[in-house]
Amino acid sequence: MNIQDLIRPTVKALKPYSSARDEYQGNSDAMVFLDANENPFENGVNRYPDPQQRTVKSLLSNIKGIPQQNMLLGNGSDEVLDLIYRAFCEPNQDNIITLPPTYGMYSVLANINAIKIKSVQLDKNFQPKVDEILDIADSNSKLLFLCSPNNPTGNSFEAKSIEKLINNFKGIVVIDEAYIDFSNEESWASKLNLFPNLIVTQTLSKAYGMAGIRLGICFASEAIISVLNRIKPPYNVNELTQQKAISQLEQQYEITKQQVTDILKERDALVTKLKSVDFISKIYPSDANFVLAKVDDATKRYNQLIEKGIVIRNRTTQPGCENCLRFTVGTSKENDVLIKSLKELE
Ligand SMILES: *Cc1c(COP(=O)(O)O)cnc(C)c1O
Repeated sequence: MNIQDLIRPTVKALKPYSSARDEYQGNSDAMVFLDANENPFENGVNRYPDPQQRTVKSLLSNIKGIPQQNMLLGNGSDEVLDLIYRAFCEPNQDNIITLPPTYGMYSVLANINAIKIKSVQLDKNFQPKVDEILDIADSNSKLLFLCSPNNPTGNSFEAKSIEKLINNFKGIVVIDEAYIDFSNEESWASKLNLFPNLIVTQTLSKAYGMAGIRLGICFASEAIISVLNRIKPPYNVNELTQQKAISQLEQQYEITKQQVTDILKERDALVTKLKSVDFISKIYPSDANFVLAKVDDATKRYNQLIEKGIVIRNRTTQPGCENCLRFTVGTSKENDVLIKSLKELE
């Protein structure tokens, strides 16, 4: 497969905007910067940020074991996903494939970009129906989204299914690994060399505890990264975000890892306690920091919890999730409040 054949002609033809800071790279301390029309008086944010976020990438590269050339950062993974659409999908012509029940942004972004959506519902164990997916794909199917661990179901997809899809789908396979840091599965980012049509997305929003700074990560071949770099807004990750990411990754990484361990322990405790709530009939296995549970009447229970000041996610309208609620794992205290409240419901 040649990635170049999948890129939109307009994207291939365009000459990217070259920002002032793109043109100069080197030792900044010794330099006088009169190139970008900035206010010269220092206040911490008077300069444009590094358009390539080199320091953040080098820290992430060490943590994740992926070279910086295989990495692109965005204003949340939502921006990364949008860039992927704009690089590969021709409006009013191409389509993408999603596997509901799954993350809502894939179809929102398809609709924004005027891209048709083909969907193949996950099977009753929330695994991909590989042959049906490959059958439904046509020559305009440019992207296939696999969310693993999947939101809202919490499970990981079987490795052999994922591999068969990457090997046989004629477009780009995007594996959304927003929850990978909670899982024991290995990231597919370590296999980029084997699969030229693979993109893996991750985020600092979940396990890393930085949803507020909006920092998403894209791992892919250098060919794909270079296409996305051509179309990204030059300064898409702001200075405050870069500074906060750097300080957290340098100073708080051990604490973050401990928090993930604690959250997983809390998740297992929460599952045990949820089992003793009489109107909960099923709790689905989770590789993430949330659990999906089937109840007698999801909308009624959701509204009752709101009355008690507890906000969860009602997923009942999602295919295959009738009467299902999604609970994020909170602190031990928050989870106790949840369980106590659930047991009080009539
Ligand atoms: C939360 C989440 C994301 C994260 O999006 P950001 O824009 O990075 O905050 C991505 N994918 C899935 C499936 C998610 O649940």
